[in-house]
Formats: sequence, structure tokens, C-alpha cells
Amino acid sequence: MSHTQPPTLLLKAGKEKSILQRHPWIFSGAFAQVPEGLADGAIVQVANQQQQFMAIGHYTKSSIMVRILSFEKLMLDQHYWNEVIEKAWIRRKLIFEHTLQTNAFRLVHGEGDQLPGLIVDVYNFTAVIQCHSPGMLQHQLQIAQALLALVDLEIKVVYNKKILDTDSDRCIHGTPETVVCIENGIYFEVDYQAGQKTGFFLDQRENRKLLGQYAKGKTVLNTFSYSGGFSLYALAAGALKVTSVDSAKKASHWTNQNLELNKNIDPSRHQFLLADAFEFIKSNPLNEYDLIVLDPPAFAKHLDAVKRAMIGYRNLNAETMKGMKSNSLLFTFSCSQVIDKDLFRKIIFQAAMQAKRKVSILHQLSQPADHPINVYHPEGEYLKGLVLLVA
Ligand code: SAH
Repeated sequence: MSHTQPPTLLLKAGKEKSILQRHPWIFSGAFAQVPEGLADGAIVQVANQQQQFMAIGHYTKSSIMVRILSFEKLMLDQHYWNEVIEKAWIRRKLIFEHTLQTNAFRLVHGEGDQLPGLIVDVYNFTAVIQCHSPGMLQHQLQIAQALLALVDLEIKVVYNKKILDTDSDRCIHGTPETVVCIENGIYFEVDYQAGQKTGFFLDQRENRKLLGQYAKGKTVLNTFSYSGGFSLYALAAGALKVTSVDSAKKASHWTNQNLELNKNIDPSRHQFLLADAFEFIKSNPLNEYDLIVLDPPAFAKHLDAVKRAMIGYRNLNAETMKGMKSNSLLFTFSCSQVIDKDLFRKIIFQAAMQAKRKVSILHQLSQPADHPINVYHPEGEYLKGLVLLVA
């Protein structure tokens, strides 16, 4: 291990504030001087005008120029990775000791675990890594080794799931195969190789459970249904009829697999429709449903798209509300990081106005405890949900 110091980026005068407030990102405009020839993903130090060390992190030649890993000097050696991954695991054990009814959970949640750019989801004995920054990509093998060192987690497969263009899928350890997980008593097959994100939307676990509490005897429409998460909870809870709508061909296959896995669920109460959910909502009567789920993919990944995304969410929700029968429920979500909780609420207000419906909020939903929000990084609160009563 080399002991040479990483290259240093110098801040402009007066640009320390966000670092002193422990925000994990530094934007390019904050720097007075950036060493030439830095490669994307390089480990760098950040210093103020007085040449005092302020942080160490990963460099990317982009608007978020440095993602901070630590505000103290340290070396990113195997010991470091073992320690940070083990700490994340200790935190999960603390969270889950009393509440976890699943063997599928998020072990590392980026900034929420002081590891910006890194996601690790665990599905039974499989760990799926996703690196959202070029910096994290460089540490895949160290991260895999740290995961395998967690003896009581008994990881047998470590799989890297590409998200950046410069990355590629690969199995770092073991033999990859589809895994079956159990969440709140319901079985789900997770196809992390072909699936979206790391294979399953763990962040909706508690919201699916809440839906189950409302679903008995109800006719349910689950749009953007993916592998049928909300649908299976509804059926298991005794819904009369559940319709899942998704535009991805594989979603149908995955949903059927999951129905088959759960022998206690009667599949004749379920139908899957391969369709564009926006079109479906526009062109079908919605007044036959007692409960509707809207869980679209992120409309806005970048700030400049916020306006368009706002209109997208507003129209989707307004169109749905318009058609809903009186006293029915709407579980509506947004997972766009750039649309915060208040803005989402405002969009729902506008949608209710547009639909001319009386709407009240019954529940305000967020992400579960294995997707923690770093208080210094409010952007990490990305999942917003509202349960609405449409009168
Ligand atoms: N609610 C799901 C996760 C939804 S992810 C769960 O709990 O697991 C978003 C889903 O929307 C994906 O499955 C994607 O295929 C689907 N999707 C994206 N655009 C769509 C569209 N226009 N119409 C229907 N489904 C769409």
C-alpha cells in the first residue's frame, strides 16, 4: 500500500460552508484549483485557502466534483472497507433486531451510510453491489472482500450490477442465480441479473405492508407494478381482485413466478396487463377500483427536468383522481430525488384541484430504516408517498 498523499483540490475562499455542515457533495464551482489530468474516480483531498485539510473523497469531472468519504484523514485500504461495511451491517442489525421480517434488505445506502455512490442490497445469501460513482467502481473488489468478511451474514454470491456506462455486470464471487426471498411472510423471486435496479424495490417494503392492511375485500389496481410487490401483499391480505399494469414484458413473468411461489394465494383473483400505465389510466374506467397504486419510475433525474416531472406527476395523479369512485384510496409515490416532500405535496394539491375532487391525506410515507437519510444530506430522502382518500 502506497503512502503517497492523494492529490489536493483547493477550495475558493468562503466555500467551506457546506463541508463544515458535513454535506457529502462538493460542486465544481467551489474549487479554485483542481490538479490537471485527474482521472474520474480518483481519490482526492480537499483543502481550504489556508491549505488546511478538510475532506477526502472521490473525484468526478462533473457538477458534483467530489463525493466525500471522510472529514478526517485516512487511507482507503482494505482495513477501511472492512470497517465501513461492518459498521453498516452493525447498524442494520440494530435496526432490524425487533422489526425485520425479511431476508432481503439494503445493507449500504450511499450517503445515508457515509458511503456516497455505493448501494449494496442483500437478498438472502447474495449481495448485489451498485456503484453510482466512478470512484466507487474502483473499490468493487475491496467492497466484495469486506462483504465476505461479515461472517454472520454468510454471503455466498457477490454480484456487481452496472449502473454507470463505464461499468459492466459481473459476478465477483460465487455463482449467480435467481434467489427467493421472504418479506413479511410473502415469497419473492429476485432476478437481480435481468431485473431493474438491484432486482427488487426494497424501499417499498413498509408501504406494501400498509397497503395490505387496507386491501381485504377490495378491488385493487396496481400500476407500475414491476414484479407484483403491492399486488401480492393485496392478494395475501384477501383482496377480491387485483389488476397489475406494467409496460415491461418481464414484469408479467416475474409476477407470475411470485404468484406461483405463494401457494396460499389464489392466482385467479389476479390479472396482469402489459400496458402503458399512463394510457391505461386515461382510457379505462377507474371507478371499479377501491384502491389504486401509482408508483412510477423517477421522472426527474436531474434538476433541469424538474418542471417537466412536476407536470408529469400532476397529470398522472389528476387523471387518476378524476376517474376514481367516491371514498376510494390512492397510494401515490414519487422516487425522484429532486422532487422533495413539500414539492410532492404541492403537486398532489394541484392534481386534486385539477381533478376537482375532495382529497385528504391519510398517511405520509417514506423509505424504510435500511434506507437511512443522512441529516447533512437531505437529498437522500428520495421516496415520498401519500395515501389519499378521494371523497
Ligand atoms: N411498485 C413496484 C416498483 C415499481 S418500479 C414494487 O413495489 O416493486 C417502476 C415500474 O414502472 C417498472 O416495473 C417499470 O417497468 C414500470 N414502467 C415504467 N414506465 C412505465 C409505463 N409508461 N407504463 C407502465 N409501466 C411502466
